Amino acid sequence: MSKLTKLLPGALLGLAITTSTMAVDAKDFNYVVDRFADIEVLRYKVPDFESLSLNQKKLVYYLTEAALLGRDILWDQNGKYNLPIRSMLESVYLNYDGDKNSAEYKGLEKYLKQIWFGNGIHHHYSMDKFVPEFSREFLSAQVAKLPVAKRPADVDTLFEVIFNPAVMAKRVNQAEGADLIATSANNLYEGVTQKEVEDYFNTIKNPNDSTPISYGLNTRLVKKDGKVVEEVYKIGGVYSKAIEKIVENLEKAAQYAENDAQRNVINKLVEYYRSGDLRDFDEYSIMWVEDLASKVDFINGFIESYGDPLGMTGSWESIVNFKNEAASHRTEVISQNAQWFEDRSPVDPRFRKPEVKGVSAKVITAAILAGDSYPATPIGINLPNANWIRAAHGSKSVTLENITQAYDEASHGNGFNEEFVIDQPTRDLMDKYLFITDNLHTDLHECLGHGSGQLLPGVDPDALKAHGSTLEETRADLFALYYLADPKLVELGLLDNPEAYKAEYYKYILNGLMTQLMRIEPGKDVEEAHMRNRKLIAEWVYEKGKPDNVIELVKRDGKTFVKINDYPRLRQLFGQLLGEIQRIKSEGDYEAGRNLVERYAVKVDPRIHKEVLDRYANLSIAPYKGFVNPVYTAVKNPDGEVVDVTINYDEDYIPQMLRYSRDYSPLTK
Ligand code: ZN
Repeated sequence: MSKLTKLLPGALLGLAITTSTMAVDAKDFNYVVDRFADIEVLRYKVPDFESLSLNQKKLVYYLTEAALLGRDILWDQNGKYNLPIRSMLESVYLNYDGDKNSAEYKGLEKYLKQIWFGNGIHHHYSMDKFVPEFSREFLSAQVAKLPVAKRPADVDTLFEVIFNPAVMAKRVNQAEGADLIATSANNLYEGVTQKEVEDYFNTIKNPNDSTPISYGLNTRLVKKDGKVVEEVYKIGGVYSKAIEKIVENLEKAAQYAENDAQRNVINKLVEYYRSGDLRDFDEYSIMWVEDLASKVDFINGFIESYGDPLGMTGSWESIVNFKNEAASHRTEVISQNAQWFEDRSPVDPRFRKPEVKGVSAKVITAAILAGDSYPATPIGINLPNANWIRAAHGSKSVTLENITQAYDEASHGNGFNEEFVIDQPTRDLMDKYLFITDNLHTDLHECLGHGSGQLLPGVDPDALKAHGSTLEETRADLFALYYLADPKLVELGLLDNPEAYKAEYYKYILNGLMTQLMRIEPGKDVEEAHMRNRKLIAEWVYEKGKPDNVIELVKRDGKTFVKINDYPRLRQLFGQLLGEIQRIKSEGDYEAGRNLVERYAVKVDPRIHKEVLDRYANLSIAPYKGFVNPVYTAVKNPDGEVVDVTINYDEDYIPQMLRYSRDYSPLTK
């Protein structure tokens, strides 16, 4: 795992899971903010912000300002006409004095909501261009009514980009065979072919460099006077106006750093924004990953490269957060007991690690989401990305628990559990224990599962080849599932009921056998590694448990339901499969691994697939979700000194987007 893991939360599948602690105040907090197209917008809470010290609050405040000021960078990276299109449409929207119930106006408003969510004219996930549900004539008439200063210079081009489906159709094209640069509409390259980009980097890369910089991470590659050149994102370079504002606020934040290590991290980031030198970025990344003492933490910069078809240039993003001490205690306890779990793991003792070190992951509370992490956001982060830094200095693995809680709370009452879960007692168990057991499953998977076991001497770590990542995820999931039912978790105080694990077991089998299929198009196979792993496990235990009737698929009124008859036996089967997967990994048994994947993980039964899609469609659950941020206000005394920072959650989606465009838009002024 070398990328920030954009995990798909269970709640995204519509699975309602509850936390008993949050349920009390859920009633007076409105999680759902807006719903349009295929999107649901939620809001999240920032528990314990009030209990931060004044200095920590000021630190968070200036870091959130630095976060919001990068918004336009991402918009421009996503497409060169995104910012002028946004400005034009927002002006029209604010200037409009006609019938607000007309289909044209409603179409314009929907389109604006979509491009705000996509940070540009393309869908954040499918990468396809949005289709406007208003006419060229309507927009043209509205633009003509704008004051001259608000009318865009090149209105014809903007209209072509909005209305002609053939123009800039896809933001990131991954289709094999095409020129991925020429056919992707992002703004990371201009006038260059894929071959020219590849040739350029091949000539500047040194294959013997053991500490390589992340080539292309903060640059735009363009053709100038027939030559390929890198334009650098930095002060004095590309996006200078926005980066200057970001730096201004980072410098204010540095004054309130909790300690010298953290101050040095912020100062190093500022230095990098000035120099644009990726060696500075590496130094910053090392200092950042080694700062484990600070409560407040943040990422801010060009980090993930999913927006680049060649995976080089980073999209600008920022998340400001602080440690959730109580929940982090959970992962600390697990890591401290890593050896206990390893010594008892149900695998051949030769495959166990004599000395195992748990990865310490922390649980955080997000305070602001920005750039490429807003409005759609990851629920887990694992950084930095540079492999040599990870090997030499480690990585930080975090879970954004206030975000997963918001997903969870908002999914209540969407009908998913009523539709798919077999009976009321099982639903009750899930209501009570799924949130905690789901979190524990993730903790066990991340902190222990991946780090457990060892290869026999001489075994090639890449022996499982194309099936390596599926089998690795299978191994980590099985380790977590097996121990989730262990009385040790109750003994360690991580669970208060020895039956709690059944909630996660039920969900896991239901998801693996049925409900995850809703993300697969009819006729397609399962491809993604995590989905394959879940299917492999669920199908295998279903088949092997048949003689004892461990899992049943029962039919009621033509609908299929998962019924688990024997949970302890199910746990044994998980342990048995873990033993086999660990053997395959430890011995590098490619054939056995491939057979398991091909037999259990890939092919979809078209009848159950269709049934799941039909039942899911009837629930009309939005496939994609994202968030508005809370609003932070610096309270000043008459001397202009900040004496408090307050937080409120009242802002809705449209006002927030318009406010960000008005107040945090250094590139459009
Ligand atoms: Zn994993």
